[in-house]
Amino acid sequence: MTEFSLKLNEDQIQLKKWINGFALEKMRPIAEEWDDKEEFPWPFLQEAADIGLYGWEFMAEMMMNDPTGISMMVSLEELFWGDAGLGMCVMGSGLAAAGIAASGTSEQVMEWVPQCYGSPEKLALGAFVASEPDAGSDVAAYRTRAVYDEANDEWVLNGTKAWITNGGIADIHVVVAVVDPELKSKGHASFIVPPNNPGLSMGQKYKKHGIKASHTAEVVLDDCRIPGSCLLGGKEKLDERLARVREGKKGNSQAAMQTFEATRPAVGAQAIGVARAAYEYALEYAKEREAFGRPIIMNQSISFMLADMATEIDAARLMVWRAAWLGKQKGFKYAEGSMAKLKAGRVAVHSTERAIQILGGYGYTREYPVERWHRDAKIFDIFEGTEQIQQLVIARAISGLRIE
Ligand SMILES: Cc1cc2nc3c(=O)[nH]c(=O)nc-3n(C[C@H](O)[C@H](O)[C@H](O)COP(=O)(O)OP(=O)(O)OC[C@H]3O[C@@H](n4cnc5c(N)ncnc54)[C@H](O)[C@@H]3O)c2cc1C
Repeated sequence: MTEFSLKLNEDQIQLKKWINGFALEKMRPIAEEWDDKEEFPWPFLQEAADIGLYGWEFMAEMMMNDPTGISMMVSLEELFWGDAGLGMCVMGSGLAAAGIAASGTSEQVMEWVPQCYGSPEKLALGAFVASEPDAGSDVAAYRTRAVYDEANDEWVLNGTKAWITNGGIADIHVVVAVVDPELKSKGHASFIVPPNNPGLSMGQKYKKHGIKASHTAEVVLDDCRIPGSCLLGGKEKLDERLARVREGKKGNSQAAMQTFEATRPAVGAQAIGVARAAYEYALEYAKEREAFGRPIIMNQSISFMLADMATEIDAARLMVWRAAWLGKQKGFKYAEGSMAKLKAGRVAVHSTERAIQILGGYGYTREYPVERWHRDAKIFDIFEGTEQIQQLVIARAISGLRIE
């Protein structure tokens, strides 16, 4: 087991510097423009790919060659400190890659994960397609069906998916669908929809409150036929799992729980990046802005707000790093990943709101970035499990009871 340490190693220090430099030079100057345009920033993604920040090799390096689990957290904090909307464009394909890694065989991982990123010469995107218009938190309510056509060894997918990052513009869509409705959430399976499938199309593109550079849209599956080999994990394993569930055996819910807990700290690290951006900006502003003949930071009410922001951000980071490390060691005792995400999301919303307060009227205008950061921050309370769903997971973990 790797020891937990708060001291970044030399690789992590260099990584942090590298991404911070990219964020400062390439993200901050264009963030407002892409937020206004609300379009996918292809030229920006190209720059990220050219330096090796967007690509499956970078992800593999982070996931496989870091026994601490903390390098990814450091990377995400710096990227989202640069800008959350642009940051999501770099990270969105990672959701698809994580979906493939969670359910696929090693051959499927090798085949499909690189295709979620493409190459600097030909960029590609991945999308993780789970949520539906009537089923976000309540995954047992998914209606998208996957039916096996044995004669052709094909799966046929039908349904509508909602709020999908990179939905409809991705090359690889990783779709979660119902194979046995009677088994509710235990009757799901994940499928790859390869590029240019005529049965998959984009529905409405959402106009959002924040992270507007990131593309979010509906995905419509209309008799979408895919080869049998696109079932992640394979048919034999699926049949075995479904048989176990039908017999009333518990299956590997503990393993699934560990997987979710292990991915949640990453969202927490993104939230901390946004919180820190707002905190640093407000601190500098408070030192310069004068009212009643002195810098506003000389008022306790302002400096105490900043003291609280600094403390909360540090607390959230410690929780995120602990959870990332525990995830890597497969050492969760209760729901430390959910706790970290819950805390960091709230800290991002609170810190960005306080930053607006410290900037006063200017903070409320689009002339200053803090209002954008506040809009961006709210997403961390919503996606990859809302605030209340994290509380539910934590409540069940600490009590051992099936709290509803
Ligand atoms: C910008 C953006 C990007 C996204 N990207 C993706 C993506 O790439 N792939 C994907 O599959 N999904 C994605 N999502 C969907 C996201 O995961 C869902 O929106 C989220 O899980 C919440 O589901 P919902 O919107 O249906 O809300 P609901 O589940 O309807 O929840 C509404 C409210 O009720 C509360 N609530 C629900 N159930 C309970 C309960 N049991 N106890 C207490 N409170 C409860 C919730 O916390 C929330 O406050 C994205 C969403 C957004 C906004």
